[in-house]
Amino acid sequence: MVTIYQAKEFEEFLSKQKKTSLQSDQAYQVAKEVIAAIQQDGDKALDKYVEKFDGRVPDNYLVSEAERKAAWEQISPKTIDALKRAAENIKAFHAKQIRESKFMQTEPDIISGQIYTPIDKVGIYVPGGTACYPSSVFMNAIPAIIAGVKEVVMVTPARSGEQIEPILSVAADICGVTKIYKIGGIQAVAALAYGTETIEPVDKIVGPGNAYVAAAKALVYGDVGIDMIAGPSEVAIIADDSANPVYVAADLIAQAEHDTLARAFLITTSDQLIKQVEVELEKQLSVLPRVDIASEAIRNYGGLIKVDSIEEAFRISNLIAPEHLEIQLDDSLSYLGYVKHAGSVFLGHYTPESLGDYYAGPNHVLPTSGTAKFSSGLSVADFVKSTTFLYYTEKALKKAADDVIQIAEEEQLSGHARAVSKRLNNES
Ligand code: NAD
Repeated sequence: MVTIYQAKEFEEFLSKQKKTSLQSDQAYQVAKEVIAAIQQDGDKALDKYVEKFDGRVPDNYLVSEAERKAAWEQISPKTIDALKRAAENIKAFHAKQIRESKFMQTEPDIISGQIYTPIDKVGIYVPGGTACYPSSVFMNAIPAIIAGVKEVVMVTPARSGEQIEPILSVAADICGVTKIYKIGGIQAVAALAYGTETIEPVDKIVGPGNAYVAAAKALVYGDVGIDMIAGPSEVAIIADDSANPVYVAADLIAQAEHDTLARAFLITTSDQLIKQVEVELEKQLSVLPRVDIASEAIRNYGGLIKVDSIEEAFRISNLIAPEHLEIQLDDSLSYLGYVKHAGSVFLGHYTPESLGDYYAGPNHVLPTSGTAKFSSGLSVADFVKSTTFLYYTEKALKKAADDVIQIAEEEQLSGHARAVSKRLNNES
């Protein structure tokens, strides 16, 4: 059921793949209408679309303190402990990403530099339509909080129309989310971007969601910042005879069970491994609860790719630029330098992507659909802005004046030139 490719065939397949259309036309049209209505009519439009798309308008969009407290009673202590440990790991990893402001003195009379300041308010979108992702709370909120963002507001749809998933509320408490609103879809993105009577606007919206959420984020971009538009999730696994086929198949399936559009590739020098993984896939899929989703993804978008050398394996992987790359080779760390394009890399036989998805520290919000060729995963840097600064003494200005005036005149901006010359003449 899974396609086996020779390297050349796979390259042809890859070159024919249409770039994923990141927002479907239908979703885009709906998003346009809903955003315009919410901009115009605020809460009234919010209620109308929540009723239309989610069935029931909650009494209050804001999750109350009492509701947040009650959520803790509904989650087992074992889960709470696991979540707390995951949050600590993610915090520790992201704390290392903080950038120090820079002060430079390139010449005695000149000081310049760059200061970093956090965004004031951030909105995190946590999907809640068909599944429930406490890891998305951590991965989006923790880098913002580490960056120094004072207000981190979370939105997530209320499944029953009234309550959000309690585990999402607990995860939000563990990492310090300020407010939670029971709202999802386009409505939530529009409310965060433009504000309504009950929901205050934010400066940047981050977090994954379905095609409607993605379309809404693309439309509000410019009025607010966004992180990225996420496409279907992907993994590429580079492996040789040293890999365990059971682990390889398990990791391909872990990716494929996300979504029928998910992509999962094995790139290997070993014919033997291809045969074994094919058998293992059948075996493991047959007992997977999400067998329908995973089988469809593997059938339509999966592949086992035979290459002649490990160098060729990395060349193919760099062409894919996968969101996740696993290197299941002995001495895997020594291959890190071969990776040119990938969102996040998992090295060795005992580092399944699931570790990174939930727990270990690196962020799981990563570039998909080949966008790792030009972009990076979510990090603390997404929640700070840099401001450059400059200080010149009179002596330093005199030294630079002729050059600045010359360039200003070439640009025919004599006002710029005069802003310099008037100072040289000490005009008052
Ligand atoms: P969601 O919260 O993104 O969307 C649910 C909302 O969509 C609903 O509240 C509703 O308002 C709106 N909606 C549904 N049907 C609509 C329609 N016909 N018209 C207008 N609006 C409509 O939850 P979801 O649907 O479960 O999707 C979650 C997505 O997030 C999945 O694709 C999943 O793979 C992805 N995800 C990605 C990551 C990552 O890190 N990349 C992590 C978790 C989830």
